[in-house]
Formats: sequence, structure tokens, C-alpha cells
Amino acid sequence: MTIPLQVVWFKRDLRIHDHQPLLEASKRGPVLPLYVIEPRLWAEPDASKRQWDFCRECLQDLQQQLTALGQPLVIRVGEPVAVLDTLFKQGYIAKVWSHQETGNSFTYNRDRSVRRWLSQHGIPRAESPSNGVIRRLHDRNGWARSWEKRMDQERLPAPEFLPKINDLGCAELPTADDLGLGADLCPDRQRGGRKAALELLHSFFDERGQDYARNLSSPLTAFHSCSRISAHLAYGTVSMREVVQFARARHSSRAFIERLHWHCHFIQKLESEPSLEMQNAHRAYDGLRKTKPERLKAWADGRTGWPFIDACMRALRHTGWINFRMRAMLMSVASYHLWIDWRDSGEILARLFVDYEPGIHWNQCQMQSGTTGINTVRVYNPIKQGLDHDPKGIFIRFWVPELSNVPLVHLHTPWTMNANDQELARCVLGQDYPLPLIDHEEAARQARDRIWGVRQGESYRREADAIQWKHGSRRHSGSRRGKQSRLKKQAPGQLSLDLGKPQINSG
Ligand SMILES: Cc1cc2nc3c(=O)[nH]c(=O)nc-3n(C[C@H](O)[C@H](O)[C@H](O)COP(=O)(O)OP(=O)(O)OC[C@H]3O[C@@H](n4cnc5c(N)ncnc54)[C@H](O)[C@@H]3O)c2cc1C
Repeated sequence: MTIPLQVVWFKRDLRIHDHQPLLEASKRGPVLPLYVIEPRLWAEPDASKRQWDFCRECLQDLQQQLTALGQPLVIRVGEPVAVLDTLFKQGYIAKVWSHQETGNSFTYNRDRSVRRWLSQHGIPRAESPSNGVIRRLHDRNGWARSWEKRMDQERLPAPEFLPKINDLGCAELPTADDLGLGADLCPDRQRGGRKAALELLHSFFDERGQDYARNLSSPLTAFHSCSRISAHLAYGTVSMREVVQFARARHSSRAFIERLHWHCHFIQKLESEPSLEMQNAHRAYDGLRKTKPERLKAWADGRTGWPFIDACMRALRHTGWINFRMRAMLMSVASYHLWIDWRDSGEILARLFVDYEPGIHWNQCQMQSGTTGINTVRVYNPIKQGLDHDPKGIFIRFWVPELSNVPLVHLHTPWTMNANDQELARCVLGQDYPLPLIDHEEAARQARDRIWGVRQGESYRREADAIQWKHGSRRHSGSRRGKQSRLKKQAPGQLSLDLGKPQINSG
């Protein structure tokens, strides 16, 4: 006889600890732990082999953990609705448990169709919140408090035992090739799985993170000194609450805990407004940029002719990770100097990041491109950034070996070498290493003028006020508190918040 089961649908929560759906389901009856590999999801333009390889390792690790509890993971390949439909027709589904997911537009639509199918078939479901993100949030007032409350709640234990259910068979984990994911060399990619995540947290709090705040900006120090936990948060091998509580117990720096808060703050924006993945937050920027394919390609290949930019891009390609400041700089140079549409450059970065997290990613892409309407516009100077963060050129020489013999005086600006210098450095420009695509100072000037041209007028400000009301952080002290209290008193349509003269920073 078939016994209806508590189906726990794992998505980007690949763990058994602090997993509310799994624990709650296990109290109700025998559990069917399910993971559906969705070939259509992996064919999306933001998905990549490096992400699948990481995810696959997380699944192998989860498989071991569930097997140790008594019931291995059941893996299926296909569309979730079709997979659930088959299980339902076989009489296996009593209820479906999962975490709410704030993913890309594909997972948003997929979750809607699963919900629709469940209600058509009268199957009960329970969706638990993920991390600090709140579904159907009206505005940001009180959001930070609720984040704190969730992070303070006791972590949930893994179920002690899962009774073995009938053998439903389990699909083999496909390789990236099976999923049709193209070549993507990433030899120094981080490893997936909870064990790897816990090792990272231990080494970070015990040793690597001692000088976190000082070391996080330069790529010379950040690879070692940042936590590197992001990919694990993206695939849920640890929960945000676990990381926050771990950090607090170890008296971690405020700078680190603040960033954990930002993680959910950004995902909340996409949860509240899914269109932020595709559309400018402030619609005044619509149609402003037109991507030139040859510029996009040079930037993506690490061949812009700006050594520090190219070094960062090549490091990212090789490892699947780069630190925040360098991500911001890569994006800013693409958007301002090269005038590339953030959707095009963002898609390339999304594929390169093993830790791709749509809510953080697309909001950051917009922030670094000046299209949010509520953030200061930052136009990074690609040469100054190199001089600030790699003054001796160590990072550049490592990642751009064509320049390894170029003397330091020319290293950040190789186009200043004459023919004789080039011969001595065994680096002929335009042949061994490209000349810069464009004059970066002139390009930055033009970009500032174009952005400035958009940020004028009352209607621009009104839309910016509404964005601030809906998505802006309410957590900061000082002058912003004044803004916050004004925000509380007025409804969005009535707001005429004085955002002041728009600021544009260069650095
Ligand atoms: C254009 C751009 C795209 C980005 N895309 C992603 C992405 O797809 N996935 C992703 O996790 N992060 C993204 N970030 C944010 C940030 O760069 C990474 O979270 C961070 O570099 C991850 O490394 P870490 O875990 O060692 O971070 P740490 O410095 O050790 O910080 C710990 C955690 O705090 C969170 N965090 C840190 N900085 C930020 C930030 N600025 N915004 C939000 N959360 C933050 C992350 O969860 C991170 O894992 C992006 C930033 C930019 C500028």
C-alpha cells in the first residue's frame, strides 16, 4: 500500500540543519526529500557550468547527510510540476513543504505554476521564509527589526531520524555536459557542501578574518581575508541565521555582520519588486545605453587594455569569485566608461560568479550603473583603483602575464611605453597586449554628463522618492534618521523628499 508522504522540496536550501520545512515535515509523517534538476533552469542565460558543478557537490553532500538520517534524497530531472504530478498520481503526496525562494524570473514563474498546480489538486503546502526576507512586505519600515528578530531565534536542529520510505528510485546526478552547459574553465572554484562551508567559517573566525575590515577592499588580501561564504549562502548549505549566530558568538567585526544584513536587504528588494532583474529601477534611464558588442567582449575576456580591470576579470574567470570592491569597479567601468547596458554585463558576471544570487546581483548591477535613482553615482577610475589597491602591480603581473616584464612606472598605464620600452618589456601593444579601448578620462566625463542630464527635474525626483519609500534602507543613523521619520509620515504618492542635489563621485 502506498502511504502519502510529506514531500520536502529542496531548492537553494541544501542542508538538513536549521531547515524548517524538513523539521516540520518530519514531525508529521514519513518524508520524501526531493530535489528536481531542471534542465530549463540550467539553460537560462545567467546559469553556468561552474554554478552547476558547485551545486552538484552540495547535492552529493546533502545526499550523504540525508542517507545518514535514514532516508536518502530522491533526485528527479525535469519540470517540477511534471515530477510532482507523477508522484501525486502514484499516491505519494500528502503535503509539499519548501522554503520561499527569491530567485530569478524563471524560478519566480516556476514557483507560481507549482503553487497553481498544488491548489488545483487540493494538495496542502507550507512555505517557510528564507533567511531575513519577508514575503508581501508593504514597505521597509520595521524591516531591520524583524531581521534581527529572525536572526536571534534559536537555530533548528536536524531531524533525529527519517523513516525509510519505499524505494522510489533516484536519478543519477547529471554532469554539466549532460545539462548542455558549455565549456567554462574555473580551475580554482570553491568546493560545495556543508563541510566546506563550516571549514570556511571556522578558518575565517579563527584566523583569516582577523583584519577583515582593513583587507576586504584589495584583491591582494581579500581572497584570503573575506569569509568566502557567499556561494554557500546562495545554495543554502548554511542558513543566514547560522552564520549570524556563529559570527556573534565569535565577536566578529561589525563590518562583517552589517554585510550579512545587506545580503537580505538586497534580496528583499527583488522579492518586493521582481522586475528589478530586467528593468531600470528608475525608468528615466530606459534606453540610455546601447551595448557595443566588441566592447562587451573585450571587457568579458579581460582585454580592455586597462591592466587592473583585465587582471580582476581574469581572476574572476579563473576562481569564480572576486571581492565586492572589484565587482563594483568592473560593473562601473562597463556601465560608465564602456557605456554597456547593465543587463548585458550583468549576465556575464552572473555566469562567472559561483555565488550568483539574483537579489543581490541585479540590485548591485543597477547600483553600480546609476539606475536606481536613490544611490550616489560612483564612477570608478580604473587606473586609480589599480594604484590604490595594487600599488606594486603584484596582482596585475600575476593575472596579466603579458605585462610581467613591464616596469612599474608603466604597469598601470602600459600605453605610456614608447617602442623602445615595449621591446625591452617584451610586450608590443596592440599585439601582445591591447591598447585601451578608449580614453578612460574622456569616457568618464561623457558618462557623468549623460547621467547628470537624466537626473534633473521634479518628475525624476518624485519617482526617486517613491523608490526610496519602497526599497530604501531605514537602518542608518544621523541625517538619514530625519529622512526616515519624514518617510513614515507621508504616503508614497505625497512624498517630496528632498534628496538634495544628486551627487556624483569619482574614485
Ligand atoms: C556588481 C555586483 C554583483 C554582486 N553579485 C553578487 C552575487 O551574485 N551574490 C552575492 O552573494 N554577492 C554579490 N555581490 C556582493 C558582494 O560582492 C559579495 O557578497 C561578496 O564579495 C561575497 O564574498 P564573501 O562571502 O567573502 O563576502 P564577505 O565580505 O565575507 O561578506 C559576508 C557576506 O555578506 C554578504 N555581503 C557582503 N557584501 C555584500 C554586499 N555588498 N551586498 C550584499 N551582501 C553582501 C554576502 O552574503 C557575503 O557572503 C555583488 C556585488 C556587486 C558590486
